[in-house]
Amino acid sequence: MSMKWKLTDRTKMLLKLELAITVPALALMGFSIWNLKHIQRDQYIEAAMQREFRSMLKIAENKSWMKADDLIEPARKEFPNVNESETQIKADLDRILREHPEFAYAVVYDKSCHVFVSAIQPNREHDQEFWDNAQDDINNAANWLPLHSGSMADSVRMMEEKGDHYLFEAGWEARHRHHVYFNIAYFLPPGLGKEEAGLAMLSFDQDYLRNKFFPEVIKDVLNRKSIRPKGDTNPPAIMVHRTMDRTPWVASANWDGGKAEVDVPFEDIFQDISWSIKYPGTTLADISAKFIRYMYTILGALSLLMLGGIFMTYRNISREMNLARLKSDFVANVSHELRTPLALIRLYAETLELGRLTNKEKYHEYFRIIREESERLTALINNILDFSRIEAGRKEYDFKETDLPELIRSTLDSYRFQIEQNGFKFEENIARDIPPVNVDREAIARSLLNLVNNALKYSKDRKFIGVNLYRTDGSVKLEVQDHGIGIPTSEQEKIFEKFYRCGDPLVHNIKGSGLGLSLVRHIARAHGGDVHVESVPDKGSKFTIKLPLDGAPRTGAVPA
Ligand code: ADP
Repeated sequence: MSMKWKLTDRTKMLLKLELAITVPALALMGFSIWNLKHIQRDQYIEAAMQREFRSMLKIAENKSWMKADDLIEPARKEFPNVNESETQIKADLDRILREHPEFAYAVVYDKSCHVFVSAIQPNREHDQEFWDNAQDDINNAANWLPLHSGSMADSVRMMEEKGDHYLFEAGWEARHRHHVYFNIAYFLPPGLGKEEAGLAMLSFDQDYLRNKFFPEVIKDVLNRKSIRPKGDTNPPAIMVHRTMDRTPWVASANWDGGKAEVDVPFEDIFQDISWSIKYPGTTLADISAKFIRYMYTILGALSLLMLGGIFMTYRNISREMNLARLKSDFVANVSHELRTPLALIRLYAETLELGRLTNKEKYHEYFRIIREESERLTALINNILDFSRIEAGRKEYDFKETDLPELIRSTLDSYRFQIEQNGFKFEENIARDIPPVNVDREAIARSLLNLVNNALKYSKDRKFIGVNLYRTDGSVKLEVQDHGIGIPTSEQEKIFEKFYRCGDPLVHNIKGSGLGLSLVRHIARAHGGDVHVESVPDKGSKFTIKLPLDGAPRTGAVPA
């Protein structure tokens, strides 16, 4: 009946454990896997990085606009009045260009006053090709300005109402088998009549744009702290190209070709060029795959840890449950063990008190029984006291230089009679060559008594007890041997645990508390040694306490 209850307890505990830990843990794992699969399938990571890239390019565009504005605005403000003499206008334009080397040429045109003055970058005077190209453009302008300057001036006037001063024209021109980028700002020259047709032109030098302007913008964008996460060892690469054609026109040093992750055309001031961005040496798909793999690895490791934790919790709980069961058995056993000798003592004492015994031998027998039973009681109580001290961490050992053979012999002497009385064959082999050992006399004697007592208790027909003390290299061994019921291999480790008693029904008919061997082990270990058992069921057992000869034993309280 009680067995059945324990089983249900155990099942209940398992169920609770399952519900409380395992289910949430599994749910968490499952959810994480589902989540990762989701992230993988929907390409979340790629999309997030692409958004990041897009915002970087947006910043690049804004920066380009601001930079262009900062260059043109001061130059525009210095532009000469159309009503000045042509020589003055020319001189002013030359000066402006000299001071602003980023521009290729400048033109001032007023239709009504027939003013058309142009100037080419004086700093590039010796670059014939540059000079010729600029001159070509100016000649072209001279042709189309009379026709279109009216409508263009009107457009600029409309923009001025909104606070904007410029119209831009930009694009690519095929020259000498390659394309050249042009970018011209149109605005109203100072002094132009309200309704009149006329225009000022300021053209960017394409070499400046290519070699300085865009590289600077690229550098700026890539160095922005907010964009590059700390410890990012692979910054993105940026490239500027003609919208129609993917060959890089301007690129950051780490541009390594290949397909761009994001490619956007710029608008407004810089028409007809596009910006590309990517990570050199890798692709977003790769990075994402790597990340997902990494997450799976972490998830796997965490899951293992979690499973380990659950397993350990389970083991601990089972152990605690076993211990609880052993403890309750212990209480029952100890009460029983206390009651039996007390009842015997009382019974025999009462008989003696009556004084009706005639046989002298009977007297002796009764006295012997009373003595033996009280000895049993003392041993048991000593065990319990020792045990409780160990449990409380208060057990102290009193180590002293001891003649071990003498100690063993005298301990056995007071027991020999009882052993032989019980019909046991008793053999004792105690070596003489053992130097003094640092031990706690009482503790060692108690260990020996526990072992001998067990040998007495757990033997059936073949009644034999052997005690050997001998020296092996560096240590001394104390063996207690019997030809008793033996211990199954599976239980040979457990018998040293507190309260543990073998499952054999035979054992349960024999009185015991399950404390003896745990004390023996504690004592042996406190001396820097250990105890172990060799046993074959139905053949017998041999317990060996091994103590070091030179090992300085620990002193004071020894934890349980
Ligand atoms: P107790 O003898 O009070 O039950 P012990 O701690 O001394 O407690 O022993 C634990 C268990 O080990 C015993 O219950 C018994 O099952 C087993 N055992 C101990 N000594 C022997 C032995 N000499 N032969 C067979 N079994 C033994």
